[in-house]
Amino acid sequence: MAEYDFDVLVIGSGPGGYVAAIRAAQLGLRTACAEARETLGGTCLNVGCIPSKALLNASEKFHEAASGALAKHGVKLGSVELDLPAMMADKDKAVTGLTGGIEFLFKKNKVEWVKGLATFIDAHTVQVGDPSTGSGRTVTAKNIVIATGSSVTPLPGVEIDQKIIVDSTGAIALEKVPGHLVVIGGGVIGLELGSVWGRLGAQVTVVEFLDQLLPGMDGEVRKEAGRIFKKQGMEIKLSTKVTGVSVNGGKASVTVEPAKGGTAETIEADAVLVSIGRRPNTDGLGLDKIDITPNQRGQIETDHSFRTKVDGVWAIGDVIPGPMLAHKAEDEGIAVAENIAGLTGIVNHDIIPSVVYTHPEIAGVGLTEEQAKERGEIRVGKFPMAGNSRAKAIDDTTGWVKVIADAKTDRVLGAWIITSVAGTMIAQVAQAMEFGATSEDIAYTCHAHPTHNEAIKEAAMGVNGKPIHV
Ligand code: FAD
Ligand code: NAD
Repeated sequence: MAEYDFDVLVIGSGPGGYVAAIRAAQLGLRTACAEARETLGGTCLNVGCIPSKALLNASEKFHEAASGALAKHGVKLGSVELDLPAMMADKDKAVTGLTGGIEFLFKKNKVEWVKGLATFIDAHTVQVGDPSTGSGRTVTAKNIVIATGSSVTPLPGVEIDQKIIVDSTGAIALEKVPGHLVVIGGGVIGLELGSVWGRLGAQVTVVEFLDQLLPGMDGEVRKEAGRIFKKQGMEIKLSTKVTGVSVNGGKASVTVEPAKGGTAETIEADAVLVSIGRRPNTDGLGLDKIDITPNQRGQIETDHSFRTKVDGVWAIGDVIPGPMLAHKAEDEGIAVAENIAGLTGIVNHDIIPSVVYTHPEIAGVGLTEEQAKERGEIRVGKFPMAGNSRAKAIDDTTGWVKVIADAKTDRVLGAWIITSVAGTMIAQVAQAMEFGATSEDIAYTCHAHPTHNEAIKEAAMGVNGKPIHV
C-alpha cells in the first residue's frame, strides 16, 4: 500500500493550481486538487480575468454601436438598446463553459477534485471539508502545493455590501448601470471595470492615491493612460485619498482629500468600486501547523523551484511574491509540477508581460524606461500607431510602441505598447527577449503587412536609426 493517498495534492484550482495538477498528472503522479469553491478555475475563471474580459468585449460592442462610431465606416444603425441581463447571462455562460472545461480536463487527466476548504494538519496531511460543520476528509500527500491565490484588499472602515459598495466580484454583476460610479484605486481593476460601466453609460470618477494611474508600469505609459481615459470621459482624481464612504438612502457619499492632506470634499455616487489591490489567501490554511509564517505582505516565500522552507510543501501563484497575474501563476504551476517530478521547472520572472484590457489596451514586458536607465545607458525607439498602415486603415491610431534596448549590447530590455491589440502584440517582444534578441534582430525580422505588429519593428528600427513611416 502507498504511504500517501496521493503523490501531489494541490490546494486551490486557480490558473496556478489547476495547471499544476494537470501537469503533475500528465507526468504520471497521482494527483488531487482541493478547491473550496463550487466550481473550478479560481479567481481568474470565476470572478476575474474571464468575466471581466467578457464584459469588456460586450460593453465595447455596445459603446461602438450606441455612440454612432460605426456610421463613419458606413454602418448605420437604428436605435441601440442595452439589455444588461442578456449581457450578464452571456458573461456567465463564458464562465460556466470555462470552469466546466477545467472539470473535464481534471477527469481526462485523472486529477481528483477534493471538494472543500483545505487546512494543514501536518506537512503531508490536510483536512478538506466544511469547517462550519466539521465535515470532511483527511487527505495525505507526499507533496502539497499551496495555490490558494488572493482576495480583495479591504479599505479600512469601508464595508463591501456588493450592491452599492462593491469589489470586483460585485462590479461584474451589477443589476443596473449606476448613474455615477466612483472607483477607488486607479489600477488595473479600476480602469478595466470603470471602462465597462463607463461604456454602458455611467459617469465614472477614479480616485487614485498616487500621482499617476497604473503603478508599476512605464512612466510615459502611465501619463498617456491618464490622458486617454480623461478623453474618454472618466474623471480622474490623482494624488487623492478616500477617507470614508457612507451609504444613505441607496446612495453613497465618498469623502476624499488630497493625499498629502488638505481640504476634504464629498462625492455622491450610485455605486462605489473598491479596487485598491489584492492580498494573498492564507487565512484558515493552518500554516502555523507546518511552521510557515507569511512575510510582511502576507505572501509565502519560496525558492526559485517554488519550494517553501518545509520539505514537501511548495507554493505558487498570487500567494507567493511577484505580480498577481494568471499567466505567471500558470507558468509556476507547470514549473512546480516538473520540479516535483524531478525535472527542472523554471519561470523567468524578468519576462512576464502585463496587459490592461481597456480600449486601447496597454501592455508591457521587461523593464520600464525608468528602471532601465537606473541600470545603465539605454537607447529607446518609439513609433506612433498613427504611422501604422493597419491602424490607419481601421481608424484605430491611438497609442504607440516603445522599445528599450541596452546602449552597448543592443539587447532588448523592455517594451511598452498602447494600442487596441497591445495585449496580443506584446507576446512578440516577450518571446524575442526570452531568446535574448537585440533591437536589430526585431528590426530585421520580416513582419507581415499590414499588421499592428509592424509598429514593433518600426520602434525597434528607431532604437539605432530611424523608422520609415514617421
Ligand atoms: P486564484 O485564481 O485566486 O485561485 C485560488 C483558488 O484557491 C480559489 O478558487 C480559492 O477558492 C481556492 N482556495 C483558497 N484557499 C483554499 C483552501 N484553504 N482550500 C481550498 N481551496 C482554497 N490576471 C491576468 O493575468 N489577466 C487578467 O485579465 C486578469 N483579470 C483579473 C480581473 C479581476 C477582476 C481580478 C480580480 C483578477 C484578475 N487577474 C487577471 C488576476 C488573476 O485572476 C490572478 O492572478 C490569478 O487568478 C491567480 O491565480 P492563482 O491560481 O494563484 O489563484
Ligand atoms: P492594483 O495594485 O493594480 O491597483 C490598486 C490601485 O489602488 C493603486 O494604483 C494604488 O495606488 C491605489 N490605492 C491603494 N489604496 C488607495 C486608497 N486608499 N485610495 C485611493 N487609491 C488607492 O490593484 P487592483 O486594480 O485592485 O488589482 C489587483 C490585482 O489583480 C493586480 O495585482 C493585478 O495584477 C491583478 N489584475 C490583473 C488584471 C490584468 O492582468 N489585466 C486585471 C485585473 C486585476
